[in-house]
Amino acid sequence: MKKALMINFGLRCNFSCKYCYLKGKEQLPIIDDTISGLKKVVSNNKDITFLNILGGEPLLENEKLIDFLNFIKEINFNREEKDKVFICITTNGSIYLEHIKDFKDFLSLNISIDGGEKSQNKNRIFKNGDGTYKTCIEVINKYSKDGIIIGIHSVIKNPFLWKKCVSQLFKDLNNVEYTYSFNWDIQGGSAILELLNKAYVLSIGVKEMKKYNINFDFSVARHEEKLCGGSYTFLVIDYDSKIYSCETKSSGTLIGEMKDGDIEIDMSNKYVLDKHIIDNYNIHYMSKKLSKNFIKNLKTYICNYRNEQITNNKFTIPFRDVVYSFILSTFFKDFLKEGNHV
Ligand code: SF4
Repeated sequence: MKKALMINFGLRCNFSCKYCYLKGKEQLPIIDDTISGLKKVVSNNKDITFLNILGGEPLLENEKLIDFLNFIKEINFNREEKDKVFICITTNGSIYLEHIKDFKDFLSLNISIDGGEKSQNKNRIFKNGDGTYKTCIEVINKYSKDGIIIGIHSVIKNPFLWKKCVSQLFKDLNNVEYTYSFNWDIQGGSAILELLNKAYVLSIGVKEMKKYNINFDFSVARHEEKLCGGSYTFLVIDYDSKIYSCETKSSGTLIGEMKDGDIEIDMSNKYVLDKHIIDNYNIHYMSKKLSKNFIKNLKTYICNYRNEQITNNKFTIPFRDVVYSFILSTFFKDFLKEGNHV
């Protein structure tokens, strides 16, 4: 089985997004030991074929990043096609690195841009408070000309504002080939309000995307394995070699550490569910109580971490998730065709 790792390439960022999980944290770069440890782990484990690099803003660590990408290029050169490593970098899309195109055979960019100018500039701003939309559009166009595989991802804070201006994004990216995905960050309010918001966003989103013929994709990256952020909670290696079960420190649970180029998991941790799963580096929190068919039909995946946050029991799925899944599977059947993961 193929394995996946998510790597935090440091906490430095040139943005100051209003909803950033790093707010108030010291801006630290990835430590050298983490990179050298990671190199050992990847070269010793042929089955690790997918790396998702994120930050902070990973492209700020350009020297370390390019060095790491060159290392992966060498590894790939000596591997058969099926064993090659594929990398997706999650970036805020404001930094253009010419060298990225040297790695386009095995690299894609997942760029966060929250819809049109108004919705992007409301939350995603430079440190001096300036809007970032225009810079990002220019940078995306450059990467597109370089032939890089691009995914655009929006965080939707205000569905009404997003709806108003998302068509501007689609128009401005007219010459760019990309897949689009979005998720919600609508906090407060009741479960019903959250559900209604999600249903609303999905319905208008689908309509807009159809209008502009946009490929819609909830996967973390375009990759033949279709590793989906919802179905797999990646094993996350933080910038300081610590290993988390889910996203990064702010939301995840510390379950191990990377030492001497190896991955050490604390098997006594309550979030470590299954040795087999750990062996596959995908901490798969899907509830075992759900039948495979149920999951397949609903095309949704349940995260135990989220379950526990909402219901205090990692095996109890929040009612809102069940209803939302029902809405998706009932009203968006056609849209959720194969390949579109939710
Ligand atoms: S781009 Fe990402 S890391 Fe940077 S401030 Fe925004 S949310 Fe935070």
